[in-house]
Amino acid sequence: MATVQTARGPIEAADLGPTLMHEHVFVLSPDSQRQWSDEWDEEAQVANAISKLNELAATGISTIADPTVDGLGRDVARIARIQAEVDLNIVVATGVYTYTDVPHFFFFRGPGVIPGLPDPMVDCFVRDLEEGVRGTQVRAGFLKCAIDEHGMMPGVERVLRAVAGAHLRTGAPIMVHTHPGSNTGLAVKRVLGEEGVASNRVLLAHSGDSTDVEHLTSLADDGFILGMDRFGIDATLDFESRVGIVVEMCRRGYAGQMVLSQDAACYIDWIDPVFKPGLPNWHYLHVLRDVVPALLDGGVTQAQVDDMLISAPRRFFEG
Ligand SMILES: [Zn+2]
Repeated sequence: MATVQTARGPIEAADLGPTLMHEHVFVLSPDSQRQWSDEWDEEAQVANAISKLNELAATGISTIADPTVDGLGRDVARIARIQAEVDLNIVVATGVYTYTDVPHFFFFRGPGVIPGLPDPMVDCFVRDLEEGVRGTQVRAGFLKCAIDEHGMMPGVERVLRAVAGAHLRTGAPIMVHTHPGSNTGLAVKRVLGEEGVASNRVLLAHSGDSTDVEHLTSLADDGFILGMDRFGIDATLDFESRVGIVVEMCRRGYAGQMVLSQDAACYIDWIDPVFKPGLPNWHYLHVLRDVVPALLDGGVTQAQVDDMLISAPRRFFEG
């Protein structure tokens, strides 16, 4: 039996239940907010998040994995405060989110100064996973990093190898933000493979942004878990296409290697609120309310839906 660290303490992986594997509570730019914005009201935003997450819990979702790491305005103390008031598990992550360079904090440390020195990022991640995130009782439940259309930039590779190092020391699974249109999954496969990471402990987030069924099939055959996790971001790929690729991958027998999610947030400051109405389906309830019925209409079975919502998340954490 494997234990998963949630913001309300450890639980058995078997008890995760229906899980949305990629939902943020908040995505924030704290420096910019502090200096230039009046949008953030701490008490109002926390209250709104508690309300939205309890609304989600009432639909039958019992866990969300929140991959908000360094670079996305991570504040685990705030998450712990919200967790205390909501009736689902929030699993927080550790790691670094960048498409290009390492954060300036790490730039002139470790291998950033002398190639070959141990990377201090590894100890930071391991501390979050094993002892808890500073200022909280919360331990991170998984690792998160990113690669986007820029490809395997040196800073991206350094983070990926640090994440692999923390994985090898702790056994925590890894989620990688990917850009499937640039076949970044293959670059992830190369680097993590060199580090000795088993692909079945790696979730390639945003795989569902692609309709390239042969590419996704080859990644699934390699053992990766595929994040079909941006339902509701219909501006970059429409609803029918997002549903269609999941239907086809289920038909090919990969339901046990896919997870469903929305990559939504209660508030994300990357988007001018003026444009938010342009994404009416981008919220926590879209998967259960709209996506699952469309999948069932498309020929996906309830057992396959359960594979994607329950079994695949459990396997990701269990290994
Ligand atoms: Zn995300």
